[in-house]
Amino acid sequence: MECTKCGRELKDKKSKERGYGPVCWEKEKECPHCGGEMNVDMSDGPVTANCDDCGYERVLF
Ligand SMILES: [Zn+2]
Ligand SMILES: [Zn+2]
Repeated sequence: MECTKCGRELKDKKSKERGYGPVCWEKEKECPHCGGEMNVDMSDGPVTANCDDCGYERVLF
């Protein structure tokens, strides 16, 4: 399995679960509007990330 963003091979279990390597995951979590860290909701259905500070929301996968 490879990272969704950069295509590098994912080695640890956690990275495989989310489909991103640790570095790319940090970038995915960063809000493009205000630069804050977004909360990621992985409960069920599509994984969404939302920012408490500015209200920005996006679907990750
Ligand atoms: Zn990556
Ligand atoms: Zn934000």
